[in-house]
Amino acid sequence: MKKSDTAIIGAGPAGISAALQLARYEICPFVYEADTPGGLLYSAGTVENYPGFPKGIEGPDLAALFAAGLEASEAVVFPEEVLAVDHAAGVFRVQAGSEADFSRLIIATGTRPVPLEGVEYDSRETEDGIDYGVGEIRNIAGRSVAIIGAGDAAFDCALTLSKKNDIVIMQRGERPRCNAALLRRVGESERITVLDIVSVEKISKEDDGRFALSLYGGGCGSHNRMTADHVIAAIGRVPREIAFLPGLTEMIDELTADGRLRFAGDVISGMYRQTAIAVGDGVRAAMEIYESKGLDG
Ligand SMILES: Cc1cc2nc3c(=O)[nH]c(=O)nc-3n(C[C@H](O)[C@H](O)[C@H](O)COP(=O)(O)OP(=O)(O)OC[C@H]3O[C@@H](n4cnc5c(N)ncnc54)[C@H](O)[C@@H]3O)c2cc1C
Repeated sequence: MKKSDTAIIGAGPAGISAALQLARYEICPFVYEADTPGGLLYSAGTVENYPGFPKGIEGPDLAALFAAGLEASEAVVFPEEVLAVDHAAGVFRVQAGSEADFSRLIIATGTRPVPLEGVEYDSRETEDGIDYGVGEIRNIAGRSVAIIGAGDAAFDCALTLSKKNDIVIMQRGERPRCNAALLRRVGESERITVLDIVSVEKISKEDDGRFALSLYGGGCGSHNRMTADHVIAAIGRVPREIAFLPGLTEMIDELTADGRLRFAGDVISGMYRQTAIAVGDGVRAAMEIYESKGLDG
C-alpha cells in the first residue's frame, strides 16, 4: 500500500467510503476523526433505506460495520479534531493536535445540530443538559423524554426511545415534516404523544433533577407545564464547516476544479442527507481525486 498525500476529514459514511475507494487504488489516506468512526449513524434508529439490509439495520450497527471497514482498510486514523485548514504553495496545512501537510483533501465533516434558541433557561447547567440526539441516552429505560422538533430526526429519536420510555414530541406547527413511514409508526405507538402548535418558552430544573418545560400554545393559546427526565432538541442540522484560514475560501473553486479538494456527504448535501448519498459522494470524491493528476505521493 502506497503512502498517500491525501487527507480525509471526518470518518462518517462519506469519509470512510472515500478511504475504502482509495484503498482500491492501494493508496492509504490519513483520516481525521474527532469522535467515533461511523459518524451520525450512531444517533439513527432503524435504517431501512440502505441497500443490502432487507430487514433494516440499527444505525449504530451500520456505523460499527463502516468503522470495521475503515479499520481493515489500513487507512491511518488520527483521533483528532481538525481546527483549521490553510493552503499555500500547493499544500494544505491541516491543524489538529499537530500540523501536517497534504496535497489533496476530502472534507466529509457532516453536520451539527441547530442549537435550541429563543428559550429561556434557569441556568447554564440546564441548557447544557439538553440532548441533541439519542447518542448519549440510547439505553435509558422507564424514563420520560420530551422531544422538540417535527422532522425525520425528531420522529426517529422518538421511535428509538419509545421501545422502553414514554415520549412527548412537541412541534411548533400543525403538521409534522417527517416522512410517511415514520409518521405512521409514531401514530401506531402507544408510548408516543405528539403535541401540535406548541412552543417551549422556558426550561428549568426541578429539585429532583427533572426538567420542567413551560409551554405556550396547544391550539387554544394557553400556557402549560410539563416535566420530563430528558429533553432532546431535534430542530434541524447545518453543515459542520472547517475553519479556513485567510485566503483559502477564495481558492475553493480553483482547488476543486483541479481535483485537489472535494467535499463529500452531508456537509454538502443540503436537505438530501442520507447514508447512501454520503457513501456515493465519498466514493466519487476519491475517484475524482485519484483521476486528477499527480496522486503519486
Ligand atoms: C436521527 C437520525 C436518523 C437517521 N436515519 C437515517 C436513515 O434511516 N437512513 C439514512 O440513509 N440516513 C439516516 N440518517 C442520516 C445519516 O446518518 C447521514 O446521512 C450520514 O451519517 C452522513 O454521513 P457523513 O459521512 O456525510 O456525515 P457524518 O455521519 O455526520 O460524519 C461526519 C464525521 O466527521 C467528523 N468530524 C466533523 N468535524 C470534524 C473535524 N473538524 N475534525 C475531525 N472530525 C470531524 C464527525 O465526528 C463525524 O464522525 C439519520 C440521521 C439522524 C440524525
